[in-house]
Amino acid sequence: MSHNNDELDRLQAEVTRQEKVIHVLMDFAERSLSIQNSDFSLLQSTVILEEQVRHRTIELESALHKNEQVTRALRESEAKFQQLVEHTMVGITLADSLLFYYVNTMFCHITGYSEKELLQMNPLDLVSPSHRAEFAEVIRKGMAGEITKADLQTEVVRKDGTTIWIQVTGGLPVSYNDKTVLINSSIDITERLRADKEILSLNIQLKEQAIHDPLTGLYNRRYLDEVLPREFKRAERNKGKLSLIMCDLDYFKRVNDDYGHQAGDEVLRTFASLLNSHTRASDICCRFGGEEFLLLMFDIDEDDVLSRIEHLRLSVQKKKIIFEGQTLRVTASFGVASFPDGVTTPEALLAQSDIALYKAKESGRNQVSLA
Ligand code: GH3
Ligand code: MG
Ligand code: MG
Repeated sequence: MSHNNDELDRLQAEVTRQEKVIHVLMDFAERSLSIQNSDFSLLQSTVILEEQVRHRTIELESALHKNEQVTRALRESEAKFQQLVEHTMVGITLADSLLFYYVNTMFCHITGYSEKELLQMNPLDLVSPSHRAEFAEVIRKGMAGEITKADLQTEVVRKDGTTIWIQVTGGLPVSYNDKTVLINSSIDITERLRADKEILSLNIQLKEQAIHDPLTGLYNRRYLDEVLPREFKRAERNKGKLSLIMCDLDYFKRVNDDYGHQAGDEVLRTFASLLNSHTRASDICCRFGGEEFLLLMFDIDEDDVLSRIEHLRLSVQKKKIIFEGQTLRVTASFGVASFPDGVTTPEALLAQSDIALYKAKESGRNQVSLA
């Protein structure tokens, strides 16, 4: 009878241990689902595991009077449980700060080491040197019961020398062969991190594209619409100066008509690069549309603006643009408006620069005018 009781205690302890495993897996699955929304098979195996234990508990209860039956049920259940743990998508380990005591097939697959090799290794030896201290601290806290759950991403050096990132969850102390060990689940997240990084860089790229003109590489009108009200407010607040210069190529339609659209494009690119080279890094150069450009200059006296733009005008006039062996020349007209100078809104500043440009065109083109 006492033999039966011992056996039952042992079985109950076994059920408790398995429930802990399931708890870790369940938790991991939930987190994994919320992060990745894809690891369905992990959830599936966890649900199967949980179901498995439920069944097993029922089996154990009904076998209370029949030790023989209990033993058989345990043996079958153990085999099933073992199989599930072995074939789950997650690497599962039992370890302390010195050794691995159990590793499943997936963990061997993740690290590239065999079970035999891993069972002789210190878990810290797997971790990249730069992450070792952090990992050791998590193990220490887990063993000391200072944390209820470990959850960290760390870099691991595989047997073949390649490095991968794994997400380690668990850190739950369990009793195993008279030892207190931590049960951890690990998943290879290298690919996911790489994809995250790529998405981030694509997003940055898209944002950049959204505010730039592809032909000239200058900012586009969308960006100006965003930046002008902001900079206007800033200038108001700081009692600063702001100058807006509207530029338009003269008789540009003729370039297209006489030399073709491609030649026109080359002229636009050349003008954009002259604009860039005659302005300061802090100035904002935009292609406003077609052959119209806008230049936003900060904290600069209007006289200074006028002399800079005059230099730009002259360099445009002097520039020989070579296209398919032909030499093209263009000129441009410029309208300058500045804040404060009686201007109270960004729209008014824009309208003033347009009026000034119109003046320059009316007065014969290839010149710089003030509003
Ligand atoms: P004005 O001196 O009065 O400014 O005369 P203009 O010929 O420069 O002005 P107009 O507005 O009559 O013509 C502008 C031309 O710019 C017409 C259009 O085909 C051309 N254009 C607009 N965008 C582009 C472009 O991206 N590439 C090329 N090649 N041409 C463009
Ligand atoms: Mg024009
Ligand atoms: Mg125009």
